[in-house]
Amino acid sequence: MVAPPLFQSVTHTADSAEDFARMASQPLDDDFYTRYGNPTSSRIAKVIADLEGAEAGMMLGSGMGAISTTILSFLEKGDHVIAQKSHYIGTTKLMQDFLPRFGVEVSMVKQSDIAAFEAAIRPNTKLIMLESPVNPSMELTDLEAIAKIAKKEGILTLCDNTFASPIIQRPIEWGIDLVLHSATKYLGGHHDLLAGCVAGSKKLLENVWSQSLVLGASAAPMNSWLALRGIRTLDMRVKKQSASALRIAQFLEEQPEISKVYYPALGSHPQKELVDKQMQGMGGGVMSFVLKKGYEAGVKFLDQLELVLHAASLGGIDTLAILPAVMWGGRLPEEVIREQGLEPGMIRMAVGIEDADDLIADLSQSLRQL
Ligand SMILES: *Cc1c(COP(=O)(O)O)cnc(C)c1O
Repeated sequence: MVAPPLFQSVTHTADSAEDFARMASQPLDDDFYTRYGNPTSSRIAKVIADLEGAEAGMMLGSGMGAISTTILSFLEKGDHVIAQKSHYIGTTKLMQDFLPRFGVEVSMVKQSDIAAFEAAIRPNTKLIMLESPVNPSMELTDLEAIAKIAKKEGILTLCDNTFASPIIQRPIEWGIDLVLHSATKYLGGHHDLLAGCVAGSKKLLENVWSQSLVLGASAAPMNSWLALRGIRTLDMRVKKQSASALRIAQFLEEQPEISKVYYPALGSHPQKELVDKQMQGMGGGVMSFVLKKGYEAGVKFLDQLELVLHAASLGGIDTLAILPAVMWGGRLPEEVIREQGLEPGMIRMAVGIEDADDLIADLSQSLRQL
């Protein structure tokens, strides 16, 4: 057998009452009932854990399923969490609206400010949530520095590694305890599955697993199987996406219609040294850029694109672009939008695996028509 099998059976037969008891209680086991685990999901979880240098991994139904299940697994009323001012929208909502409802306090600090993390620590700080790089500013968090501070205080560290993928960045190697992914993005890579995962030590994962039985954000076996197919080309895709994105970012930086390009691997990135250390100098596929003529120009620019698709998401084979002001404008208060570093004419683009010259030609024709 070359391609992995897909196990769709939700339940599995026991040989005896004793065997049944074992199946029902074995943490991270995959032969009892799909909410407890599934052989196809275990297989992709192991691949991701290996890529991240983690002891164990677990698949969940979505990136948000992985993030919320993991975070809720370690918190109780009265705990304090430190998170970043900028996160994926779902994580921001979890921190701002959701956790406070259950008596958990959250401090959100500027991610590039190491001292701000240290200053935010309280006696009841249980967990630090990180994400690097973040969108749309493409700002980085110094994972090694924050992990060191947290270890000294016995605080658990989590990092959403979706934007870098383990090809570019491995947070566990910098001392982070748990790595999270939206496998919907680079790991799956084809815009056709929704899944998430968490990887780390077996001990921490066993706790997440036991809580996940209640929260129920379990992975669908078919999505795990698609992720197994997608991840086989992860290395090739991420390297091509990074190379194309750098060329495109450099092209965009020279265009008179554009005032600013945000991309980690550009020489103009304010944390270029950290990009070289933590991301091996690779930028990934996502960038943001600002059209001088503002929002209306942004709308027109997207409409005029032919190869680049107007759609949310990132990390897949197709190049996608959006106007973040529209995407988040309807969901977050205006001061938060500004705090997120958004501008009206800002475009976020996730580069796929198309020919880079074709992409540049498409961007160029749309820019010329503005
Ligand atoms: C998309 C995304 C998520 C959420 O993942 P879903 O699979 O859509 O639930 C979380 N974090 C980051 C950085 C993302 O890009």
